[in-house]
Amino acid sequence: MNINSLKFCVIGGGIGGLAAALALRVRGAQVTVFEQASELTEVGAGLQISANGMSVLRALGVADDKPAFGQKSFGTVLRDYRKGRVISRVPSPAAGPTYYFHRADLLDLLHKAALRAGVEICFGSRVTEVRKHPGEAEIVLESGERLRAECAIAADGGRSVIRPILNGPETPAFTHQVAWRATIPWSHPDQTPRAALTMGPGRHVVTYPLRDQSLMNVVAIEERSDWREEGWWQEGHPEDLRARFADFGGEVGDILAQVEQVNIWALFLRPVAAKWQNGRLALLGDAAHPTLPFMAQGACLALEDAWCLARAFEAQSGVVKALAAYESVRKSRAQKVVATAGSNARNFHLSGPMRLAAQAALMALGPRLAQRYDWIYSYDPTG
Ligand SMILES: Cc1cc2nc3c(=O)[nH]c(=O)nc-3n(C[C@H](O)[C@H](O)[C@H](O)COP(=O)(O)OP(=O)(O)OC[C@H]3O[C@@H](n4cnc5c(N)ncnc54)[C@H](O)[C@@H]3O)c2cc1C
Repeated sequence: MNINSLKFCVIGGGIGGLAAALALRVRGAQVTVFEQASELTEVGAGLQISANGMSVLRALGVADDKPAFGQKSFGTVLRDYRKGRVISRVPSPAAGPTYYFHRADLLDLLHKAALRAGVEICFGSRVTEVRKHPGEAEIVLESGERLRAECAIAADGGRSVIRPILNGPETPAFTHQVAWRATIPWSHPDQTPRAALTMGPGRHVVTYPLRDQSLMNVVAIEERSDWREEGWWQEGHPEDLRARFADFGGEVGDILAQVEQVNIWALFLRPVAAKWQNGRLALLGDAAHPTLPFMAQGACLALEDAWCLARAFEAQSGVVKALAAYESVRKSRAQKVVATAGSNARNFHLSGPMRLAAQAALMALGPRLAQRYDWIYSYDPTG
């Protein structure tokens, strides 16, 4: 379909929303992004973008093999928690290396590319309602302003206000996991930068370098029962983090000792949406399929969604058919990746004999470990 004459409203200017806006705009559509935040801001944290996500960034012209700000990974080291003993070294997936980005840098790259392509981006614009009319979607802003377009894309994140319009009210479940996130200045550059996944009973820590290895990103996940409310994040206390991971030694113990500022997220989850679209409105990214971060795939899936959505419009005749094709091509993959991330929560946090047995299996698998997830990384929606 020629999409030059189509108008799209994209709700949410995160990674999914900006990538979708750009993918639609480069195919000729007129696209406006409505972002509730008054400016592009992001609290410090890293993102791993694996080969499947990188293929979309490359196709969008946002990244090449040496992306600005991206740090190429040479694999992952699996460690035991007490002294940091190496359990296994997992090489980069055969599909290609993962890159480590500071989230603010990746958002900035997408934002600038979207502006250059001619996407209109409206900050301070919170969307409160979306309505379907014959042949049109109408969005209502908090200010009361109403706008119409042929299609509205809700990329408004895990606490989407638009998702209930399609799926009715849902109560998110607390996963009994919290994520501590920090970055610390780093001055030990490695010729072959890798992520480290350090596993202990009920907890794990992922570290990887960012920005030419001048920063170290820290994500510490802990099983907890004492959280009541869903919230994006709150400030935590470094001493509290250290106390909760006091038995983590080796390099990760040294890294935790240097944390001066830390934020903490409670991980709440909704299922992959049953309904992704209604012929005029479609969900994308975390709004459609929030996931636990244990496969580092949430942003990668959002990038895949963005490309597949734009491609569906190119391939199908009419908005209704395009959105149906988008849902059908995306839903089962999202369900499979989200389920895989969920099962890792159990695998990473084993204790006692189960932990030792799992470690023996990881050692035996060694370099072949990367192959288990080939189906995730080798998926190239742009191919
Ligand atoms: C601890 C942790 C580590 C992670 N690590 C990784 C990783 O390494 N790799 C990876 O791929 N993923 C990772 N993720 C997942 C990733 O962060 C998300 O999947 C990704 O940010 C989803 O992007 P999105 O654009 O769908 O939603 P979001 O990033 O949540 O963006 C939604 C945007 O919509 C805006 N918005 C919301 N409501 C409205 C409204 N009503 N009107 C207008 N605007 C609105 C918000 O302000 C926001 O800007 C991690 C997540 C966590 C919690």
